[in-house]
Amino acid sequence: MNDRMSDYEDAIEVYDDSAAGAEAGAHVGLEGLRRRKEPLWEADNSSITSDVPGLHEVKELLERDDTSELADEEINTGNPLPSTPVDPSLIETEVAEAIKSGVLEHELDWAHSAAEQAEEFVRRVWEASWSVCHFRNLPRWLQDNDYIHAGHRPPLPSFSACFRSIFRIHSETGNIWTHLLGCVAFIGVAIYFMSRPSEEVKLEEKLVFAAYFAGAIVCLGLSFAFHTVHCHSENVGKIFSKLDYCGIALLITGSFVPWLYYGFYCHFQSKVIYLSAVITLGISAMVVSLWDRFAEPSLRPLRAGVFAVFGLSGVVPAVHYALTEGWLNAVTQASLGWLVLMGCLYIIGAIFYALRVPERFFPGKCDIWFQSHQIFHVLVIAAAFVHYHGITEMAMYRMSVGECPPPQELVL
Ligand SMILES: [Zn+2]
Repeated sequence: MNDRMSDYEDAIEVYDDSAAGAEAGAHVGLEGLRRRKEPLWEADNSSITSDVPGLHEVKELLERDDTSELADEEINTGNPLPSTPVDPSLIETEVAEAIKSGVLEHELDWAHSAAEQAEEFVRRVWEASWSVCHFRNLPRWLQDNDYIHAGHRPPLPSFSACFRSIFRIHSETGNIWTHLLGCVAFIGVAIYFMSRPSEEVKLEEKLVFAAYFAGAIVCLGLSFAFHTVHCHSENVGKIFSKLDYCGIALLITGSFVPWLYYGFYCHFQSKVIYLSAVITLGISAMVVSLWDRFAEPSLRPLRAGVFAVFGLSGVVPAVHYALTEGWLNAVTQASLGWLVLMGCLYIIGAIFYALRVPERFFPGKCDIWFQSHQIFHVLVIAAAFVHYHGITEMAMYRMSVGECPPPQELVL
């Protein structure tokens, strides 16, 4: 229906253009008449007043050849020529009349049949199943990792087609499912944790863990969404890649919150300073992620670097804790061991991601499985669960020792 209307509008536009062109032509013609008439009239004025026979008749004819006369004639008749419209509404009337009289009928018929053919063509293309393609056949905006040769999805400019592609085997299948399953697993753990009775887990602790669960679920969910729809179109791909990076920043920020909460449970000032610093760094990482060029393939090491440095900034409060409470206590009370393991998993994942190992050594052999991005995804999930285990241990330690000792009374 809309297509038909737009065909009609297009036809009117085409007609408008031609009418405007004709109108312009008519003006040029009239201008030409004026320009031609005036010099002729002045130059030949004296000769016309001479006594050459027949010149009086010529003079009369030239005097009648006046543009005002022509305009008057047009206005008086009330039936302007299509090429000289004086009122835009008249154009529409003319078009309607022209359609009635069949002048434009064949053009509109042609437009309708062309639109129907195009519609049919698109429908057939959509009905036909797409097939995976080679890296060199991808549009430039989909070319990310040239060590992955075959098995790429072509552009699928429909969200339903993108989501249906989850169930097909291609270069993104592993990336999609690793983070989809990770996201579902974290939703399950979060529901279990949040539904604990308040005698078991205080509301405050639930909120602190909620920050972590939110970071993990949003990060894995956005990553799943990005890998699913980034072949939709260039713009959609750009938006979701930014969201994907923002998700990583959220996961790192969310990871810090419970660790700092329990690690500096009785040190309010340090806790506030570190939390403020982490939130500031998290927001900065998100701002950098929103930079248009951040997603470019050439900036892969920079991306890995930004998130690695952000994650490694956790070394500062960890060393602070170890220096004030002792290294052994840091391991037993602040889950330092789990924290180090988590850091190692993230760093190894970032190295795989940045260097594109193993596909770099086996180009075209990791097109579907075991490519660097899948290994990175699996390591991110492993690190996220390791961290969950670590902060759960810290929470249990806090439960076992009870609340903070009262501040030492001033001894006089
Ligand atoms: Zn990813």
